[in-house]
Amino acid sequence: MVWSTESRQSRGYGAAWTKVRAEVLARDMGMCQVCKAEGRVTAGREVDHIVSKAKAGQMGWTQEQIDDPKNLQTICHTHHLIKTATENGRTYRPKVQIGLDGWPVDGS
Ligand SMILES: [Zn+2]
Repeated sequence: MVWSTESRQSRGYGAAWTKVRAEVLARDMGMCQVCKAEGRVTAGREVDHIVSKAKAGQMGWTQEQIDDPKNLQTICHTHHLIKTATENGRTYRPKVQIGLDGWPVDGS
């Protein structure tokens, strides 16, 4: 992987990110979009890159395309962990068991 030589603003989480993040959370009404796709309503407080930065970088996306609201979604903490682990080639095993009905099972 080639590390970017771009400025710290485009690499890090600067003011622009704070703004776009707020925009995405407002657009998604603070609901995890992955849960929503699975038919559940869960509050999300994190913003996730739909196409990961690493993958987008490999495909030659610009920083603007990567951080475009179209490539961002609101996500809950659990889904963020799962997604990040998957992107890193690992399997995240949630402590909470998901039942056949798609809802977490208590007491695990
Ligand atoms: Zn979720």
